[in-house]
Amino acid sequence: MAAVKVGIIGGQALYQALGLQGRGEHLSVETPFGPHSAPFIATELDGVPIVFVFRHGQGHVHNATRAPYRANLFALKSLGVTHVIATGTVGSLRDAIQPLHLALPDQVIDRTYRRPCTFYDDVAVHVELAQPFCATLRQTLIDAAPRSDTEVHSSATYVCIEGPSLSTQAESQLYRTWGGDLVGLTAMPEARLAREAELHYALIALPTDHDSWRSQPAGQEPEALLPQFTQRLDAVTAHGAALLRRALPRIASTPTACRCASALALAIFTDRTRIPAEVKSRLRPLLGRYLPSGLV
Ligand SMILES: [Zn+2]
Repeated sequence: MAAVKVGIIGGQALYQALGLQGRGEHLSVETPFGPHSAPFIATELDGVPIVFVFRHGQGHVHNATRAPYRANLFALKSLGVTHVIATGTVGSLRDAIQPLHLALPDQVIDRTYRRPCTFYDDVAVHVELAQPFCATLRQTLIDAAPRSDTEVHSSATYVCIEGPSLSTQAESQLYRTWGGDLVGLTAMPEARLAREAELHYALIALPTDHDSWRSQPAGQEPEALLPQFTQRLDAVTAHGAALLRRALPRIASTPTACRCASALALAIFTDRTRIPAEVKSRLRPLLGRYLPSGLV
């Protein structure tokens, strides 16, 4: 098994909950997809090498549409990351998934339409995405969950919307009829890009509310919602960080039983001899091992 290095994608709340302040080395990597969202923090947690990524930059400067997903994933791959655990806030579309629970999505419905969604605009690469999250990583998280302080839902369909506004009530109801369990802004294209980079990728979803399908309780003032969101975000992120910490040593010792790390083996459709040298050079960290030596 390749040396395990875990990329962790989250925000300020997760950074604090993991106790990363003042720790590690700050790294920047040049990528063909522009700058990544913020300097990465490379350190060790529970004996496992990790690289922390602020998905939206420090201070949440990139919204979900503009977050540089391609640069972030490309840079993680270039740094030798093998596994990625992402976190992200979501709205729940189900009574059973309460705010402050955790959910480990196993499916995605992608409703995004304004963000670059692939590394491979210049070459035909078709990765399988029937199971968009890594089965090995998800099972490792599920196995780490029973001792969790909160309920962990081991299966959920995540509806990824473009934003920046949240769903209308009709949209939220529609997603429920589609079988959606969670609605969020960031799982795509992140999960797809991770597969295209042959990274094991799983998501710990952090429910903070019930989206808009369920009316707010009578008497609740809109002004109370932001402090409530912040309070819930901190609490659910602490639960997510605790699960992540329990899972990390298991990730390092669990043999992979999935095909994420060879996702490109049958996926490159363009005749290798017809891929321009410039494209081969630009995408070498992703495609290099599949191109005959001397052609890169
Ligand atoms: Zn995998």
